[in-house]
Amino acid sequence: MKSSVIEVLQQYNNFTKLKEFSEYGNGHINDTYLLDYEGSGKVILQKINKTIFKEPKKLMENIALVTSFLRDKIEKNGGDPDRETLNLIKTKDGQSFYEDSKGDIWRAYNFIADTICYEQVTNAKEFYESGYAFGNFQNLLADFPVNKLSEVIKNFHNTEDRFATFKAQINEDPLGRAKTVKEEIDFFLNREEYTHIFNRALANNEISLKVTHNDTKLNNILFDKDTKKALCVIDLDTIMPGVAAFDFGDSIRFGANKGLEDEVDLSKVGLDIELFKAFTRGFLEACGKSLNKKEIELLHMGAIVMTYECGIRFLGDYIAGDKYFKIARENHNLDRARTQIKLISDMEEHIEEMKKIVEKYI
Ligand code: ATP
Ligand code: MG
Ligand code: MG
Repeated sequence: MKSSVIEVLQQYNNFTKLKEFSEYGNGHINDTYLLDYEGSGKVILQKINKTIFKEPKKLMENIALVTSFLRDKIEKNGGDPDRETLNLIKTKDGQSFYEDSKGDIWRAYNFIADTICYEQVTNAKEFYESGYAFGNFQNLLADFPVNKLSEVIKNFHNTEDRFATFKAQINEDPLGRAKTVKEEIDFFLNREEYTHIFNRALANNEISLKVTHNDTKLNNILFDKDTKKALCVIDLDTIMPGVAAFDFGDSIRFGANKGLEDEVDLSKVGLDIELFKAFTRGFLEACGKSLNKKEIELLHMGAIVMTYECGIRFLGDYIAGDKYFKIARENHNLDRARTQIKLISDMEEHIEEMKKIVEKYI
């Protein structure tokens, strides 16, 4: 075991009772370890990735506030707060994280046992459960004072800001790639209107800022191993003020796509309307009551706007020389941008159907 890890473990109770220590899970961002203590059960220990998260202490403040709010709410609702939310374990000094001598930030959570974590959506039932889990997360936090949260990644879903970056990348065009992807660039420029939808609705007070999760992947939910129902939303690093349609829309963008995000055969890419239906049902059964009419009406637009935003980020990065998203092959980011274009086009074709599905819950 590395000396930095020993230094961290000593900050928590029961260090001498540690039986086992191992790397754990399939996370791509943080370093995750499983600790097994004699007598007092298992713990998840994580070192926060500070390349991605520049202000890990603010991130930890967000998590401490939200998890203790969730704990109280779940208890009040008669649920099991030890299993239905993450619970931070305090250090011996009563802190919710530890900063080691290298300046890395560590945190410990209770390990939620008897759960399954799925990597990919394989059927509508799972996707319904996923919708329910993230909808329920919204619902439980509907009366959380959102102004207390820090914006962990600035302008994360500020689509107007992303669009400005995209235009700057086209203007700079360091590798002369822009002229080779004119059709793709025009696709996005012609749809600039999408970038304003949510900022305008917020400015007009038609919708309000909520606590959003911002990483609504299936593997960020723990399912109960017996009932197969979604039990707990995990991976709270990116909780921030945002609009409900961002979490909804991003889930649809990657979960209800018939093809892979980097599929080259675009005939395989498109919106799976059955999966869209399943997620919508789960999400709105759980949080429909905490959203106003306009927030529900805009959900399907969230799917288009999140796909648009991702598309301009992929295409912008291709033009900029693949600086941000890792590539495994030539034109990888361009392929990714093209799948987003195909998905947006497909959603535009099915927009009336999407709208009807969502509006059933108003
Ligand atoms: P990502 O790549 O999704 O951003 P990450 O690096 O942020 O992942 P987490 O998602 O927090 O890491 O954790 C990685 C995995 O560890 C989870 O997918 C889950 O399988 C497991 N895990 C995390 N926290 C717990 C917990 N409290 N109880 C049980 N399992 C957990
Ligand atoms: Mg995760
Ligand atoms: Mg994560």
